[in-house]
Amino acid sequence: MRSLYCGDLRKAQVGEEVTLVGWVHRRRDHGGVIFLDVRDREGIVQVVFDPDREQSFAIANSVRNEFVIEIKGLVRDRPQGTINPEMGTGEIEVLGKELVILNKSETPPFQLDDHQQVSEEVRLKNRFMDLRRPEMQQKLRLRAAVSSAIRNFLDDNGFLDIETPILTRATPEGARDYIVPSRTHEGNFFALPQSPQLFKQLLMVSGFDRYYQIARCFRDEDLRADRQPEFTQIDIEMSFMDQDEIMAVTEKMITGLFADKLSVNLGEFPRMTYADAMTRFGSDKPDLRNPMELVDVGDLMADIEFKVFAGPANDADSRVAALKVPGGAKLTRKLIDEYTKFVSIYGARGLAWIKVNELEKGAEGLQSPIVKFLGEDVAMAIMQRLGAVNGDLVFFGADKTNIVNEALGALRNKVGVDLEMLTCDWAPLWVVDWPMFEKTSDGGITALHHPFTAPNCTPQELEADPLAANSIAYDMVLNGCELGGGSIRIHKAEMQKAVFRCLGISDEEAEEKFGFLLNALKYGAPPHGGLAFGLDRLIMLMTGTDSIREVIAFPKTQTAACPLTNAPGEVSKEQLKELNIRLREKISV
Ligand code: ASP
Repeated sequence: MRSLYCGDLRKAQVGEEVTLVGWVHRRRDHGGVIFLDVRDREGIVQVVFDPDREQSFAIANSVRNEFVIEIKGLVRDRPQGTINPEMGTGEIEVLGKELVILNKSETPPFQLDDHQQVSEEVRLKNRFMDLRRPEMQQKLRLRAAVSSAIRNFLDDNGFLDIETPILTRATPEGARDYIVPSRTHEGNFFALPQSPQLFKQLLMVSGFDRYYQIARCFRDEDLRADRQPEFTQIDIEMSFMDQDEIMAVTEKMITGLFADKLSVNLGEFPRMTYADAMTRFGSDKPDLRNPMELVDVGDLMADIEFKVFAGPANDADSRVAALKVPGGAKLTRKLIDEYTKFVSIYGARGLAWIKVNELEKGAEGLQSPIVKFLGEDVAMAIMQRLGAVNGDLVFFGADKTNIVNEALGALRNKVGVDLEMLTCDWAPLWVVDWPMFEKTSDGGITALHHPFTAPNCTPQELEADPLAANSIAYDMVLNGCELGGGSIRIHKAEMQKAVFRCLGISDEEAEEKFGFLLNALKYGAPPHGGLAFGLDRLIMLMTGTDSIREVIAFPKTQTAACPLTNAPGEVSKEQLKELNIRLREKISV
């Protein structure tokens, strides 16, 4: 139908007769002349209809926004003074000669250019319309370009794209499973994969050596702003490669991508241990654009009377840390109160602070509700450790270590952004040397990555003191987001069984759930490892978007529903009967 895209028209086509197809973006009546802005995926072009071509003029008069039209016309220079440098096609226009309406449109549920005022619910309900917006088109195009660049890189480096099942057994990655009832095996259920983890390991056992897949993963977790129940991973696995080699290949893939698509040089990624990241930033994915760091001050407070600090200072599972905000003394009480509320989300019971007004005056020069409890010597020793100067503000966290880390870590991020303290646009790093396990709130232990990650010790050492063991795991972090995570895997059955035992999974249960893996590990499993990148999050960072839903064509809401299709929905009695499922009566509370 078309001779070229509307958005591709340039001065080079001046004088040419063209056929264009697209949507009416806007129609303007300028005293006898009708202007149609016609849009397709490449952009918008202005088409002019004069009254002397009666038939096409009358049709132009009748079209409305979002009608689909076909135009034959002549490309010409725009008259002097009407050139629009903001538009790719701004130097030219098309003189419309013939106009056909290919399809009408009802009045759209919202105007494409004022989506800001439209709620996300309405945008998602009418996603086909929302996706017409040039901004959404650009994001999904970048997404396609990134997938394609990644495929090219991995293909060129000898990786094979191999699909793995969607209907499968549980793969523990720390979330709840989505389960699918089986009709043919009454009372049995498939689980949707939380990741292709075990299949990619089996592919290594089969000798494929290098695998990748742009894989859909499903996790039924309590949704936070940047999570989706189904999301896409760039899933990678390789054999006979150690941690450094795996990190080198994948770092090259990401730096190449940023150089190619955004002209950004990410440089060589620094490495930081998990322990360091937690101590200095209170986070396992620190945003290194932010110059502030947490500093331990518990030792200075061990002997004071004030239990709020002395308690945690003398408890091995707790921490007292300070966060110095340069120039923060100017923050208002109101803002400090807001920050206090903010840290309470992370379980902090308060937010102590000191404003450094006149350090030379000693404790007198410190404005704070807590200095009187600390005493001059302790207060000044803290100031000295922090290198505080007049005009600074110091926040304190004193509680269980995980609460202090989460609360001050999040506060550090928030204050850094609020006070515009970020020092650069991009700050990548690798976080390495992760603990193998962590304690759960109910006193058990759980794997920090997943139970197939190789511990950095023998099975005997691991079982003797599981919480002391580190794993050979690595996360790639960019601007405070986890871009990807992976590890060297366990390739010996003995070690895998030890990990299961540490997790309280009996040998019988391990056999029942993971017998296929344990069996495969018996038959010459090579040393292997890999990693997976979150594609959605990668695109979110690359497009400077703050919601993952903005870079997914058809995302779910925060309650894991789809307003467009109304999924999830009920099923018929017949379907349930076939599956041998009876629903419980809804119990109203
Ligand atoms: N399967 C892991 C995940 O989904 C990634 C990996 O270890 O390769 O987080």
